[in-house]
Amino acid sequence: MAFFQRKLMKTVLLKKPGDIVIAEFPEQQREPGGVLIRVRSAGICGSDIGAYKGENPLVSYPRIIGHEIAGEVIEVDSDEWKFRIGERVVIEPYVYCGKCYPCSIGHTNCCERLAVRGVHVEGGLAEVISHPAALLHRLPDSIPWRLAPMAEPLVIAMHAVRQSEVESGQHVVVTGAGPIGLLAAQYALTLGAWPIIMDPVEERLALARSLGIEHAVNPAADDAVAAILAVTGGRMAEAVIECSGAASAIRGAIDYASHAGHISLVGWPRGEVPLPTALITRKELTLRGSRNSVGQFPESIRLIAEGRVEVDALVTKTVSLDETPAIVADIAAHPENYLKVTCLI
Ligand SMILES: [Zn+2]
Ligand SMILES: [Zn+2]
Repeated sequence: MAFFQRKLMKTVLLKKPGDIVIAEFPEQQREPGGVLIRVRSAGICGSDIGAYKGENPLVSYPRIIGHEIAGEVIEVDSDEWKFRIGERVVIEPYVYCGKCYPCSIGHTNCCERLAVRGVHVEGGLAEVISHPAALLHRLPDSIPWRLAPMAEPLVIAMHAVRQSEVESGQHVVVTGAGPIGLLAAQYALTLGAWPIIMDPVEERLALARSLGIEHAVNPAADDAVAAILAVTGGRMAEAVIECSGAASAIRGAIDYASHAGHISLVGWPRGEVPLPTALITRKELTLRGSRNSVGQFPESIRLIAEGRVEVDALVTKTVSLDETPAIVADIAAHPENYLKVTCLI
C-alpha cells in the first residue's frame, strides 16, 4: 500500500531512441547508505544526446537520463555525520563495485561493473534522488545552481589532462572545442601549460580565445601540423588531449604529439580508427584512454568557485524541467547551436 501512497515526482524519461517525455513516478525513497536529495539543477551532456539518438551503446531503455546533478540534502541516515539537511551538494555519478581488479588498484572510474547514473542506472533528471553518501561533494553557496552541474564535465576534462601527465611549461594540443575541450584547455592553463585548441567551428575558436586560450587553430582551414610546429618551436606537443571523437582528430593526434609525447583519448569515436603504429613506436608515444574520473570533484568545485576555470561562458542556455525533452530534441537536431544546456528543477 505504501507504494501507492507515495507522492509522484517528475522525471525526464527516454522511453526509446527519439522518444523523450516528462514522466511521473512515485517519489524516490532513501536507499541504505544513501542520502536523499532534492535535485535543483542538471546538465545535458553529449552522452545524453547520444542516448536520445540511439548512438550510445552503453545505455539501455527506458531510462531516466542525467548524470551532471546538483541538489539539496533533504534526508540522511541517523548515523550520517558528513551531511546535514539543507546542504548543497554535487553528485559523483560513477557508482563502482569496490571489488573488481580496477577498483582494487584505485581505478574505480573504470570499474568492471560501473553503474553510471543516467546510463546504466536511472539518472538524476528527476525531482528527488537517493545517492551514496560517499559519492557526494559539498557545493559552496558562491556557485549558482545553473552552473553547479559543470563540476562533472570539468572532472572528465581534468582526468584526461592528468592521463597525459601534463606539466607546467608543456604544450598541450586539445582537439575539439566543445565543453570538454574548452574545460581541458582551461585546466591545462591552471597547471601552467600552454594549450593549443583545435576545432573546425570558428565561433568555438573565438570563444576559446576569449577564455585566454591564445592558440586556437582551425584544422579544416589551416595546416595544423605547421601551426603546432611554429608554436612549439619545432618540438610538437608534449601532450595531446583528444576530446572530439572524430577519426581525423584521433589520427591527427599521432602527428601532433612530440617524440616521447602522451596522448589521452576521451572523445568517443563512432567506429574503429586505423592508426600508424610504426609512428607510435618510432616516437615512443604513450596512448591512454580516459574514462570518467577518480577523486577530482573537490578540486573541480574549487576551481569553479575560485573562477580559475570559467564555466559561465560555456552554458548556452538554462531551461526548466518541463522544457527539457524539447531542448534535448533540438540539441540533437542542431548540435552546432549549443555548447552546454543546464536545467533548473
Ligand atoms: Zn557528462
Ligand atoms: Zn569495480
